[in-house]
Amino acid sequence: MEFDVTIIGAGPGGYVCAIRAAQLGFKTAIIEKEKTLGGTCLNVGCIPSKALLDSSEHYLAAKEELAQHGVVVEKLSLDLKTLIARKGKIVSDLTGGIDYLMKKNKIERINGKGKLLSANEIEIADNQGQKRKITSKNIVLATGSIPAELPFLKFDGKNIISSTEALSLEKVPKHLIVVGGGVIGLELGSVWKRLGAKVTIIEHSDKIAAGSDTQMSTKLLQILKKQGLEFRLACKVTGAKVTKNEVVVSFENTKESNKPEEVSGDVVMACIGRRPYSDGLGLEELGVEKDKRGSVIINDHFQTKYPNIYAIGDLVRGPMLAHKAEEEGVAVAEIMAGQAGHVNYLTVPSVVYTWPELASVGYTEEQLKEKGIDYKVGTFPFTANGRAKAMASTEGLCKVLAEKSTDKVLGVHILGPRASDMIAEAVIAMEFSASSEDIARTFHAHPTLSEV
Ligand code: FAD
Repeated sequence: MEFDVTIIGAGPGGYVCAIRAAQLGFKTAIIEKEKTLGGTCLNVGCIPSKALLDSSEHYLAAKEELAQHGVVVEKLSLDLKTLIARKGKIVSDLTGGIDYLMKKNKIERINGKGKLLSANEIEIADNQGQKRKITSKNIVLATGSIPAELPFLKFDGKNIISSTEALSLEKVPKHLIVVGGGVIGLELGSVWKRLGAKVTIIEHSDKIAAGSDTQMSTKLLQILKKQGLEFRLACKVTGAKVTKNEVVVSFENTKESNKPEEVSGDVVMACIGRRPYSDGLGLEELGVEKDKRGSVIINDHFQTKYPNIYAIGDLVRGPMLAHKAEEEGVAVAEIMAGQAGHVNYLTVPSVVYTWPELASVGYTEEQLKEKGIDYKVGTFPFTANGRAKAMASTEGLCKVLAEKSTDKVLGVHILGPRASDMIAEAVIAMEFSASSEDIARTFHAHPTLSEV
């Protein structure tokens, strides 16, 4: 079998790249080792986590919030089995949808684990260990990432788990200890807190959501503490002991001269980040270079040291986000077709899916200071927004950073209800090099959250 373009890995980077390549007229194949397409995002990432997020928000609303609307719920109970099954159905509907898109675009789907044999040859091993070989003029590596593991906190799938298992727990933990106060830890920690677990988050840094604008992450921390999540910041986890039904996590408090401390719970979820996944891909044999983090090294055109072997998504530098992988997938396909495929990394939005949500695009205030850029800052609270008041969700603020001399928008940070949807306006504004006055003079329907 011979193809123009073969993509290894069918996550959001890979499948989007395959579709764009097929649209551009390439004879395209996609290789995936798992039974379902969609990668981390659809199977054990973005989508299942959002399904749980919404279910847990409904549960909390029924328990604590509906009464103020005059909606009385008697004998409330949680049917976790149904909640998890609903998530499973959403995942299978969407992964099935990707299958359909592959067929519709006449993309050859190959099931098995791909390995590079040369710059044009790929060996595919299926589940039974049967091997076959294909050749391809161009190859796109889109093999994604897997949860990073601490050597003293090995996943056992029961007491010490990764985000993957946290999406399918059979019962609500009594005490969930989350190692890592980043995006995934905060999101899934919030889910299980809403469903009834006591949640303690241990974070090495002295702030949560470490890459975020400090004013916003400090405010988010205050709000989450009020919701009952417990935080141990500036604490470095050093070990864990599993006894019969308990895990004791030991850590050092770096603010108090590394004072050793312990906390015990029934489940520990380690969310210390993810590592690029290229195991068994044949990179070492071919001399395809990786950096210290394990990311495949590419040039500005996504090429590895072999001009016809490209790499995208979580496997390469940059934020590990589905929409970043997708945009890179489109750009690579267009570059292979001789077009000007391009990704504007300054406008990659990022979202922390807590409630309220923290959504950001562009520079943080700290980054602008570090770069010595003169800026103006404007903030506005959700407490003064009519729609937020009607929703009874007034916590948070919107912060706009603009260049002092030109008023060009350099960064927007929104901590508030549905910030994940509202950030799109700021992304477009930045993509079109808008000034903050452009946004201010643009209509915003009243009353909506977007007026903030
Ligand atoms: P992946 O999605 O990881 O896909 C890679 C695919 O390659 C996999 O299917 C894998 O099986 C396959 N593969 C690997 N090696 C081989 C091989 N040798 N042969 C064949 N197939 C192979 N991002 C967001 O933008 N928004 C979110 O809300 C969000 N939430 C998340 C929540 C959680 C709990 C997690 C874990 C992640 C979340 N992410 C989110 C991150 C997002 O899932 C990833 O950034 C995204 O999936 C990366 O896409 P990718 O295509 O690079 O890789």
